Amino acid sequence: MIRKIAHIGVAVKNIEEAEKFYEEILSLKVSDREQLREIKASFIPVGDTAIELLQSTTPEGVLAKFIEKKGEGIQHIAYQVDDIEKTLEGLKEKGVSLIDEQPRRGAHHSKVAFLNPKSTYGVLIELVEPEKKS
Ligand code: ZN
Repeated sequence: MIRKIAHIGVAVKNIEEAEKFYEEILSLKVSDREQLREIKASFIPVGDTAIELLQSTTPEGVLAKFIEKKGEGIQHIAYQVDDIEKTLEGLKEKGVSLIDEQPRRGAHHSKVAFLNPKSTYGVLIELVEPEKKS
């Protein structure tokens, strides 16, 4: 079940510069930074959701390619789900094309998986199951 928009992923060329815009102009605050594989990410909480700034550390990365093709801007929307494996299975049964058949590790020890935008009216959708706090 989808609970909320976990975050909106925004692809930028220079994450330090982009952070300045969000902090100094929009008066929001970066809560944390993380590097996953070839992607630098900064999280900026906004109410009950967040903006995730993303910068590729290599010109060959998916994100660098995205910017090359489409320019900077919104790259994906992430929905928070309770059980990512079950959600993926259900979507697959309904004929949705998945980029990740199995979840991979995302930021904050979450599990994440992407859906193929060809199946979702052009939006790259990320599913996020947050780390279970016990
Ligand atoms: Zn994301």
